[in-house]
This record gives sequence, C-alpha cells and structure tokens, in this order.
Amino acid sequence: MNLLPRFLYLFMSLPIRIADSHFNTWDRLISRFIWSGARPRIKFRTLQIDKDHGGLALPNLKEYYYASQMRYMVYWCSPETEARWRLIELSQGQSQPQTRLGGKVISNKDGNRIVEDTLLIWKEIVNKYKLTNDIKLLIWPSCNPSFRLGEIDSSFLSWKDRGLMALCQFLDGNIFKKFEQLKSQYKLENRDLFKYFQVRHFYNSEIRKGISPEGNDIVKVFSDAYDLLPSKTVSKLYKALQKQNGNNTLYIKSKWEKELCMEMSEGDWLSMCVTQQTSTSSKRWREFGWKSLVRFFITPHIINKQRGEQQQCWRQCGHRNANHSHIFWMCPKLEQFWDSILLITGRIMGYVIPKDPKICLLGLLPGEVPTEPLGAFNIITDHAALFQTRSSMCLNGRTNGMSTREQKVTVHLWICACSFVQTFYMM
Ligand SMILES: [Zn+2]
Repeated sequence: MNLLPRFLYLFMSLPIRIADSHFNTWDRLISRFIWSGARPRIKFRTLQIDKDHGGLALPNLKEYYYASQMRYMVYWCSPETEARWRLIELSQGQSQPQTRLGGKVISNKDGNRIVEDTLLIWKEIVNKYKLTNDIKLLIWPSCNPSFRLGEIDSSFLSWKDRGLMALCQFLDGNIFKKFEQLKSQYKLENRDLFKYFQVRHFYNSEIRKGISPEGNDIVKVFSDAYDLLPSKTVSKLYKALQKQNGNNTLYIKSKWEKELCMEMSEGDWLSMCVTQQTSTSSKRWREFGWKSLVRFFITPHIINKQRGEQQQCWRQCGHRNANHSHIFWMCPKLEQFWDSILLITGRIMGYVIPKDPKICLLGLLPGEVPTEPLGAFNIITDHAALFQTRSSMCLNGRTNGMSTREQKVTVHLWICACSFVQTFYMM
C-alpha cells in the first residue's frame, strides 16, 4: 500500500491547516479496509504503535502531518540551511518566526499567512502533546518578553551573529554549559561573562524546574538544528510524536497478567513484543506470533460477551467461558501437549526450558539459557520451535473454526510443522 507517500507528499508540500474531521474520515476508511467492514479486533491506535512496542506500525496520518509541518519550523532554526523559501519566511513580520517557537504563540493577523498558519499548527501541537514547559528551551534570550534583560540590553543580539541564539544552545543535556565552553564554541569575549550569568540565572530560576528530566525528543530535533544541518527530520519528529502521544500496549500486558495471575515487568513485555518481530523471517509466523500476543483471536469468552451465550472451550474440556490463557495454556487437554513439546525441545537443545507461560506462550527469552556450544543459534532455533507451537495450535483452531468437534492439538502436528527447524539445524 503506497498510501503514506502520497499523503506525505501533500502534507509536506502544502502549508495549510487540515481539520480533524478529515483525519477521522481517512482513519475510518483505512480501518474499514483493514477489517473488511467487520468489527475491529484490535484498537486502531494500537495498530499505529511501532512494531517493537507491540503494534503494526500502521501510519498515523495526523502525526505525519504534524511532523511534515514541523519540518519547516526546524529549518527555520537551522542557520546552515540555505533555501530561498526560508529566507522569505524569516523576513516576514517584525520578529523572525523561530524566535516565537519558545513561548505562547500569539497570532499576528497582519503577518504572512503561511508563517502564521504554521505557527498555529505549532500551537496546536504544543497543547496536544503538553510541550508548554519543554519548548521554553527554544526561547531566544535576546528577544523574549519573559527575559526582560535581553529585551533591554541590545548587546545580547550580538551573540546571534556568533551563532548563539536559543537557550537550548547553552545546555549540554541537562547541564548548563560552562562559560569557557561557550566562549570557545561561539567565540564569546570575557566581557560577556556577566550576560552569561544573567542567562544562567534566568534558566535556573524560571526554566529548569518545568522541563522533563529525560529531555523531550521533539524539542531535541529543534535544538540540534541550531548547530547541525537537520536530516531525516520527518522521521525523527514522527517517532518523537509517537513516543509522546501516550499510546501503548500495556493494557494488553495487564490482561495477560490478570488471566495468568502473574506479574511482568514493562521490560519483559517489550522484549516479548520484539521477539514476535525477530524470531523468524516468515511473515506468516510473525503475524501469528503477534496475533497471539495481542489477543487477536476470538475466544469463547469473547463470544459469550458478544452474544450472551455460554460457549464451551474449543477443545471440549468442559470449561465454559474459556479466555486466551485457557485456550493456549491452561486447558487441561493441553497439559500433556506442552509437556511433550518442552521435553522434545529440551532434548534437542540440551537444556531444560522452564514450563512458564511467559516463555512458552508469550515469547520471553529466558535470561539464563546456556550459550554454549551453539550460542545464539540455539536460542533462535529453540525459539522458532516454540513459536511454531503456538502457530500450529492456532492453525488447528482456525481450521476447525468454532465447530463443536473436538480440537486436537498433537505433538505430531507440531513436529510436522517444525520440520523446517530440523532441516535448518542439519544445514
Ligand atoms: Zn479447555
């Protein structure tokens, strides 16, 4: 699907504001296409999360639009960018637009429409992603109303010619640079020391408290532009927006924890998400792994809730209301199956794989697997085998659908499905 480049081309070319209703309509159309008009099984926002965090990296058009518009603002901040459009936009209005990024954006009705609209989009982004405090690092001390000394003392403007413009340039991570450092970097003079103290006091008293201790990735793209020529800006900004938007798959982790009566750390969960994307090069298997991790399959428990009926477990164990954990792990009819799988896998690999749903069902690589003699190769093949276990189980369930026939999950089926692992191993 080459939908994204087509949209992206327009987003990057047209400096216009697009109403939320358009994005909602496009998202609705995409969702309808993905699910073929059926009821969605996974939240649309979850699909938009990147693959390493449990999503499918479905493009979030609104955030690509924001990233494309912000790209121009990043170039405003980049003195090294030599583009005609930049010079035209910077010459509009009384103050240069990049000096307005650090504070509250007040629209100038007489200003250039393109510049003013871009700044309104910035205002929208700042409010939506709660950047009000972090963007203060983009303040220009020489022309910001909150730093009165800068407005009064015009000599601050002379720093601009030496390349020292925004507050973020005074910082190295979270640490305010020493005067000597700034002096050599921007060719300041000894007489600038007092002005340096004034800016440092302003930062310590009014800015430092509010900014995120770990830094903000969106602001970082802008900060970097002051000293380096920006590259891959849209991609960096999109990732930063994704990180900031608060969407995650931790609600799925909680569901597993509740069902399996255990706790998982966030790190374990992310490791499981990564495992689904890296255990095999087969797209089909990856899809199965992901589907089982994000609870894609419609279990009797879900049908019961939807239809108000009491459906039996697929494997006819007599359990009613069987959820994901039951279907793939806890069902008594699976006990022997899992034992055999672990026994065979353990025998081939030469070490015991713990009977733990986090490892077998969800794909957490155990920390203490022996690394000798075959090292990572062992882990990969071992994991591919476990991976295939779930896939063959799902396939069997899918083949027989929701019929009342007993669903047989056999070790034989698993061995057949795993034959590729053996072939690979022999090679
Ligand atoms: Zn059962």
